[in-house]
Amino acid sequence: MPTKFVWLDGALVPFAKATVHVQTHAIHYGSSVFEGIRAYPSPRGPQLLFLNAHVKRLFASARMVRMEIPYTQVQLREAIKQVVRKNKHASCYVRPICFRGDEALGVNPRRCSVRCAVITLDWSAYLSDDAHTRGVDVGVSSWRRHVPGVGMPLGKIGGQYINSQMIVMEAQDHGYAEGIALDAHGFISEASAANLFIVHEGVLYTAPLAASILLGITRGAVIQIAKQLGYEVREMPLPREFLYLADEMFLSGTAAEVTPVRSIDKLKIGNGKPGPITQQIQKLFFDIVYGRAKDEWHWLSAV
Ligand code: PMP
Repeated sequence: MPTKFVWLDGALVPFAKATVHVQTHAIHYGSSVFEGIRAYPSPRGPQLLFLNAHVKRLFASARMVRMEIPYTQVQLREAIKQVVRKNKHASCYVRPICFRGDEALGVNPRRCSVRCAVITLDWSAYLSDDAHTRGVDVGVSSWRRHVPGVGMPLGKIGGQYINSQMIVMEAQDHGYAEGIALDAHGFISEASAANLFIVHEGVLYTAPLAASILLGITRGAVIQIAKQLGYEVREMPLPREFLYLADEMFLSGTAAEVTPVRSIDKLKIGNGKPGPITQQIQKLFFDIVYGRAKDEWHWLSAV
């Protein structure tokens, strides 16, 4: 079900009117930067998770591609809150996007305007309903992540998501919920749209910034939670076969939240059920975002 309103270039417009021309640069060359943000329900209305961090990363992605966003971070945060309110969501997914417009068809983007939109949709679990309780099956992708100096994986940039599309389509063709991509050197990177954590002998491991990952905001939150719970977290290059030694594994992301992984390349992880450390982290994450535990790190913003 589409929502009633979309914020486009500074104003709320009806969903059906929020359209662009076929000459829009971003359609041809992937010249867009975007975010995915969740709003969780609360007795006081929807609350946006990590709003500041997401808007900050949107501007960071724009900076990488030399795109000047014609709004301030404050204005975009307000726009996001406005659309969530206007569409009367109890909870939702929010997609802010800035993209190059339709003034010129050539590759050089600088002759095109920079346009911005905020779309919202009612949305619950992204992988499958029982993904959080039973875990998902994943497989190593034949697709690698962006090669340093070619792509800019630290940016959430439209064109780069062809790579993620290939990873997720292949994974699903093979019967997996997600694909785990390696980086150009063969080290573990991330899933198509989520970061990966491995638990091995009580220690958490995740790929470092240099392994062509998007520096996930949920990844940062998971690290914060894990440390608070007293676990050691190591961000270091991880060889593929480390996947097969995992006692536990889970995905983190705005959409994935904290999703346990129960098998990798058809090998059962642990007893094939979400592991205890995964469950402990998942529980604290959900307790905070659903308001059952104190939001001591100020993750949530009212709209
Ligand atoms: N990696 C990629 C490629 C993604 O698209 C996402 C989703 N934004 C993530 C990781 C997870 O990032 P976050 O926790 O900020 O949503």
